Amino acid sequence: MLAAGAFNSPQLLMCSGIGPTVHLQAHGIDVLHDAPEVGQNLIDHVDFTINKRVSSIEPTGFSVRGIARMVPQFVTFMRHGRGMLSSNVAEAGGFLKSKPTLARPDLQLHFCAALVDDHNRHMHWGHGYSLHVCVLRFSRGTVTLASADAREAPVIDPRFFSDARDLDLLEEGVQMARRILDAPSLALCGGRELYTRPGQTDEQLRQTIAGHADTIYHPVATCRMGGDARSVVDPQLRVRGVAGLRIVDASVMPTLIGGNTNSPTVMIGERAADLIAASRREPQAVELPGAAAPTASAV
Ligand SMILES: Cc1cc2nc3c(=O)[nH]c(=O)nc-3n(C[C@H](O)[C@H](O)[C@H](O)COP(=O)(O)OP(=O)(O)OC[C@H]3O[C@@H](n4cnc5c(N)ncnc54)[C@H](O)[C@@H]3O)c2cc1C
Repeated sequence: MLAAGAFNSPQLLMCSGIGPTVHLQAHGIDVLHDAPEVGQNLIDHVDFTINKRVSSIEPTGFSVRGIARMVPQFVTFMRHGRGMLSSNVAEAGGFLKSKPTLARPDLQLHFCAALVDDHNRHMHWGHGYSLHVCVLRFSRGTVTLASADAREAPVIDPRFFSDARDLDLLEEGVQMARRILDAPSLALCGGRELYTRPGQTDEQLRQTIAGHADTIYHPVATCRMGGDARSVVDPQLRVRGVAGLRIVDASVMPTLIGGNTNSPTVMIGERAADLIAASRREPQAVELPGAAAPTASAV
């Protein structure tokens, strides 16, 4: 069983000779099975964060007064399990429809009671809060090999905004998020935006979004499951073209769900456990619609 996640499962398959023939040959890897979609179809949620810096020390952050406040907060947390140290920081979330006529949301919000800039690689002195907006669909990217050596990182290209609808939608989402931040209850918190400015033209806003947008950590679909011959795994998660190998992680999702990916991945694990247990009791006992015949009994 392979469960190395949406980046490393396709990498390990390719390093083992299962993947697109031309790409494997370019790295001098003997082809065991030509699987053109290994590493293809990468989908992720592209996200832009409106950060607001405030003078209050109420949100999580770094300042002399803020650090001094941590001492009693630490004691409160240790004694009662309460207070600001009991916060998961990402305290609220929501889903939006960019148009009321849509059947389902196409934007997601994560609210953090702290400044979050470039995945916190860029730390700020001071306090603030942030509202993440992410687009739930569209652009597709790739995971390819940098080297035949599995110890080297693969090349991850999410190709964010390769589908023009994503940037249009994200811009719309940022405008909607701003309206939420301007609503009376949150407007009370005030603050100054870090990268965006209320008076920006649409074009300036788009450039800021495109320059700062990044993943909200939901990569999937690089070893797509499907009933068709091109899919990497069949509906019982068996890798097509080889015997005895299943993939059990987020890479098998056929497409990206409109929300966070951890729970569905846990469910994939639970389902895989049932499939494996059933195949051990009686091979082929659990057959799903559209499942292709396996090359051999996979466990
Ligand atoms: C910073 C961050 C925050 C997130 N927050 C949320 C959230 O709040 N809610 C939510 O629903 N989802 C969240 N996610 C997404 C969620 O964590 C993933 O969707 C989920 O973990 C995917 O599970 P997986 O099994 O596919 O991959 P992973 O959890 O990445 O597991 C893959 C495992 O394989 C191991 N591995 C990889 N290569 C090798 C190798 N060559 N040899 C041995 N082991 C290897 C890795 O070390 C890892 O342990 C977040 C992700 C990140 C990165």
